[in-house]
Amino acid sequence: MTAQAAESRELATVIGLEVHVQLETETKIFCGCSTEQREEPNTTTCPVCLGLPGALPVLNEAAVESAVKIGKAIDADIPEETTFHRKNYYYPDLPKNFQITQYDSPICQDGELEFSHEGDSRTVGIRRAHLEEDPGSIKHVREGTGPLEARTCSIDRADYTLIDYNRAGTPLMEIVTRPDFRDPGEVRAFLEKLEEVLEYLGVFDATRDGSLRIDANLSLVDADDVNDDGSIDDDVLADANRTEVKNISSHKGAETALAFEASRQKKLVQSGREVAQETRHFNETHGNTVGMRSKEEEKDYRYFREADLPPLRVSHWKDEIAIPELPDARRDRFVAEYGLSEEAASKLTSTKQVADFFEAVAERFDADLAATWVADELLGELNYRDMEITDVDERFDEIERLVELVAEDEITAKNAKETVLREMLDEGDAPGEIVEREDLGKTSGDEVQQAVEAAIEENPDAVADYEDGDDGAINFLVGQVMGKTGGSADPGDVNQLLREELEE
Ligand code: ADP
Ligand code: MG
Ligand code: ZN
Repeated sequence: MTAQAAESRELATVIGLEVHVQLETETKIFCGCSTEQREEPNTTTCPVCLGLPGALPVLNEAAVESAVKIGKAIDADIPEETTFHRKNYYYPDLPKNFQITQYDSPICQDGELEFSHEGDSRTVGIRRAHLEEDPGSIKHVREGTGPLEARTCSIDRADYTLIDYNRAGTPLMEIVTRPDFRDPGEVRAFLEKLEEVLEYLGVFDATRDGSLRIDANLSLVDADDVNDDGSIDDDVLADANRTEVKNISSHKGAETALAFEASRQKKLVQSGREVAQETRHFNETHGNTVGMRSKEEEKDYRYFREADLPPLRVSHWKDEIAIPELPDARRDRFVAEYGLSEEAASKLTSTKQVADFFEAVAERFDADLAATWVADELLGELNYRDMEITDVDERFDEIERLVELVAEDEITAKNAKETVLREMLDEGDAPGEIVEREDLGKTSGDEVQQAVEAAIEENPDAVADYEDGDDGAINFLVGQVMGKTGGSADPGDVNQLLREELEE
């Protein structure tokens, strides 16, 4: 191709993901060790997860149950029988020198997940999702006297390496999508939705360190090779040179890494060079990717059947495993049942905890009030403070009490929001304490009436302006009354009272 032709080539981006999620089980996938994340290294280990000779794995039923739930949520086929294989490779975090995983008969096959991106509904195919064990974790460290965390560094700067086998054997589900993504923004939206679904299922804890790890594959194809319906033929996909970016651990990281990779590859192709098929490492701090090694191929792993585990039959059992109402269904129900807007319903169903809390509040008070308080006020204030709903889940009773104070007209909505809720979040006090301390109880009718009369008496000019038809003067008078009552009167009521008083 001439340089000019290369430069003007129109390209389309193709992305496929391999997402590893830790399943939230109490014990590891092949032994009884706890999956709890402990500070103290190598304290939740046993001969099985340390890979000692002769130790035999026993499959954890709870991990299989989680896998079946995921399969149902993504509309996957769950075969009658699935088997486990050994994936052989040497690395210090893998004490057996092989990882037990699934190979040609994964527990979930041919699923899909719908999500929305920039207002459009998108569906991405899920080729497979399989069970496997997590390796241990590795820390590269520099010599020195400071705390270990501060001396942790990249491998090339390290003096020594520490290995912690607490993580070894944590159950993982590897979810492999079809190469259906066409831009990095879509990937982020997909990951958000996936995490939402996994949390609804109760099989995953997003707040846990390292619970989500992503390998992202990206290639470029000629724009002409994209069919009218947006699909791309298998032979085109197979021929495209792709890179696999590892070490991505967040939605935002995935978007950043892929945007970098897309532009790096574009520059290569448009200057007439080849994209090398390789594995690259995402550097979160620099927002770039760095070549690590040429991509391994399947044959490098010498897969063979794990003879220590019998085939797993879930056919008789999978029908009994139920899944809860998922976010999309719940959002639609919120619109129909509570008359909420799509937008409010989406916000309220973004996590199961928020949705459950909203329904509890809506049941006691009314749906509009509950939606305002949970979707707008609470989520808004949390967002402003970079907090999550999980940071306040132990204070739901107090937040409900605050809504009750508003519902029963004991404090104004303005004070509830601008003072009580904010102080609750910033200082951790209970709503009752704050109302008392700040003297926010709604001023009684008499006091307001007296303030209204005083404001009229003290401001004859404003009264004259109002009587001359200057309706704006009323706002000045409302302000005077609010000042006299320390802001605890309801401005709407005050406005009304003033008008009545001035009519007389
Ligand atoms: P491998 O044999 O290398 O494991 P797979 O076919 O299992 O490859 O696919 C691994 C991942 O690569 C999947 O997430 C898939 O969507 C993605 N993928 C496949 N082809 C392409 C491509 N041309 N561009 C980007 N990603 C791709
Ligand atoms: Mg693969
Ligand atoms: Zn163990």
